[in-house]
Amino acid sequence: MRVHAAIGEERCRESRLQATGGRSVRGTPLWSVDIAPEAAGLPLRVLVLGGIHADELASVSLVFDWIERSQREANPRVHWRMTPLVNPDGFLRSPPTRVNARGVDLNRNFATDDWHARARTYWVGKTRRDPRRYPGPRPLSEPEAQWVHHQIERFAPDLIVAVHAPYGVLDFDGPPPPPSRLGSLLLDQVGVFPGSLGNYGGLVLGVPVVTLELTNAGKIPERESAAMWADLQSWINRRMLRVADSGAANSARGHR
Ligand SMILES: [Zn+2]
Repeated sequence: MRVHAAIGEERCRESRLQATGGRSVRGTPLWSVDIAPEAAGLPLRVLVLGGIHADELASVSLVFDWIERSQREANPRVHWRMTPLVNPDGFLRSPPTRVNARGVDLNRNFATDDWHARARTYWVGKTRRDPRRYPGPRPLSEPEAQWVHHQIERFAPDLIVAVHAPYGVLDFDGPPPPPSRLGSLLLDQVGVFPGSLGNYGGLVLGVPVVTLELTNAGKIPERESAAMWADLQSWINRRMLRVADSGAANSARGHR
């Protein structure tokens, strides 16, 4: 329960996070919560991941905020599975680290087609062996990346949303036309990296991956979180569910 104490025990309890059976390198449980429609049917499954890079604290708090929003404003056609913190070991370091306890960048550790050909050469040549971007000894060498991989296999999401910071852009990998913006984040497809989740989900599996790069790693204003959430709902309705925009999402923005 150390992670809970660090994030705020009350908030975790209110969020109804549950242990998933997955554990980090240091044995910290990985937590998630399902927000699912009660009615039977085939809802759209959306996997939301924060804290893959644990020094991007805003990515953790944004997912907590979205858990509360999805619980308040349930969409009868969407089954959310939300994990605020994929890298608890990095989060518990002081200061928190991008990499996990073994010094691996989890967002370079996924089993992409180009991993063996490019992950190490990219790290050596392009990042000059940046310790914050070490892809690991082999794809899926890290338990946290394995856990995400298993979540994708078992939950079979139609859409993956990964939250990062602090580059202030919206990235997208995968088939349907991407959202042009989420809140103040404008679409800027920055390219793919060997071993990244966007590369694995979008290119290997053909599952769209929306990657938010929040502007500020430290704090996310409530109003900005609400605007991003509303734009995501609107895009999901139009592009993934192909239903007419309810208008409710846009009216929540207020400034458009
Ligand atoms: Zn990141």
